Amino acid sequence: MQSMDVKNVVIVGGGTAGWMSAAAMSKLLGSKKINIRVIESESIGTVGVGEATVPHIQYFNRLLGIDENSFIKKTNATFKYGIEFVDWHKRGESYFHSFGPYGMDMEGIHFHHMWLRQQQAGTAKPIDEFNLQIQAAKAGKYMPARPELQGSPLSALSYAFQFDAALYAAFLRDYSEKNGVTRIEGKIVNVTQAANTGHIESVTLEDGECIKGDLFIDCSGFKGLLIEETLKTGYDDWSLYLPCDSAVTRLSERMAELPPYTRATAKAAGWQWRIPLQSRTGNGYVYSSQFLSDEDAIESLNKDLDTAPISDPRQLKFKTGIRKQTWNKNVVSIGLSSGFLEPLESTSIHLIQTAIARLMTNFPDMSFNQPDIDYYNERTKAEYMQIRDFLILHYKATTRDDSPFWDYVREMDIPVSLEKRIAIYKENARLYSEDKVLFNHSSWFAVFNGQGIHPQRYHPIANFLEEKEMERRMAEIHTVTQKCLSIMPSHDEFLSKMI
Ligand code: FAD
Repeated sequence: MQSMDVKNVVIVGGGTAGWMSAAAMSKLLGSKKINIRVIESESIGTVGVGEATVPHIQYFNRLLGIDENSFIKKTNATFKYGIEFVDWHKRGESYFHSFGPYGMDMEGIHFHHMWLRQQQAGTAKPIDEFNLQIQAAKAGKYMPARPELQGSPLSALSYAFQFDAALYAAFLRDYSEKNGVTRIEGKIVNVTQAANTGHIESVTLEDGECIKGDLFIDCSGFKGLLIEETLKTGYDDWSLYLPCDSAVTRLSERMAELPPYTRATAKAAGWQWRIPLQSRTGNGYVYSSQFLSDEDAIESLNKDLDTAPISDPRQLKFKTGIRKQTWNKNVVSIGLSSGFLEPLESTSIHLIQTAIARLMTNFPDMSFNQPDIDYYNERTKAEYMQIRDFLILHYKATTRDDSPFWDYVREMDIPVSLEKRIAIYKENARLYSEDKVLFNHSSWFAVFNGQGIHPQRYHPIANFLEEKEMERRMAEIHTVTQKCLSIMPSHDEFLSKMI
């Protein structure tokens, strides 16, 4: 009987998506049973941004067996406890979305309900003082979690990385090649499809080399060389909800002290990021071209750099949304070819990671079973929509009225799924998490509260705790949080011991 196994995987593109896919597949599938090739073109290059991440990247690195110290050194990485949002709700105000929890859940309900009870009684301390990671970020402190200290906030310290995207791709390329992946340099100029199924059969390079495959992973960036240019899959455009479609980026000198967080500052027609690395600082203004010209964006970015520039400004254009099918026939699109959600919450690399995990779960044989493909596509879309709604909240929940951009986002229609979430929170502060979502109740609370959405009431069970006992517990959590903070080293000090 003829084998139904996929034997030849061709990864088109060697950006972060291509090399993450190659590294994971070579580790999980083993290069003896399957032939994995990555085609990339130096003349085309990569998008070259993508430097801030979410904590789940640790699982990816662990899966590959990557040593954290060597990863930190080789990618010029710093640690990240979360994002500071400046001027989003109103100018002059800021808040943190940290990766760590607020206080401690009690009586079977989330901590924020107890805090809201105190707040409504006028006795609450600032919410940030109950979140160790926010306190540490503000103080420039960092240490990894101490899981053995059960019950202590030190056991729940959750971190991500800020790194040089080009060095990360190079790091993963090295890893993949050692694992048996073949890299092919060249520009694809032609694609052939099977007459009966429309499946991709081969790609041809400029020099005439023809590369055949069973399964193609399209990591070719925004254009979607196979998924869109060849298969014409179509795109769900979400720019009505997320109107930013442009970015100008520029590198600047290293900061004297490295903050363990990314900063996102709201501006007249979008927002500006600052990502501190060991070697330099990444900066970019993400904006809507409906409301700001490219020239004005460059001028605004230059004006608001914290350190002296060390590169020229670079312009990027994008469209927020998702391919109608991220897996079509024998092509799975991963990375920018599959869709794009602006980098406000640093989610794109995470979406690459979850796409790879989902592909492994649903890894096909040559039958390319359509129900498996449909399931993959449904799950991918659900994940994108959940992140999309979270991003929209940052724009919609604002009181800013100082520019046409903010007037637009404040007044725009939003998806029904987000409308429902806001309505529930406004009533009684309840935050529901669906299965396996990236952003949990703590993240949603951070943004609701930070963006000035204040609920009428809180969970009724919060009232069941006797007042004195509640105050005692809240005071204790506060004291323990401050004590933990006092023993944490500075981020710079911690890094200097690692590198
Ligand atoms: P690319 O980097 O564009 O790579 C495409 C590859 O395909 C290249 O190797 C290219 O040579 C190859 N290729 C294309 N056409 C051909 C051809 N014809 N023949 C041969 N090879 C070809 N993500 C985060 O997680 N955090 C962030 O902070 C973040 N910030 C971002 C900021 C901006 C402004 C943008 C636009 C994106 C950001 N992202 C971020 C997203 C992140 O940059 C991408 O998810 C990541 O870089 C993956 O890109 P990619 O590999 O899909 O595509």
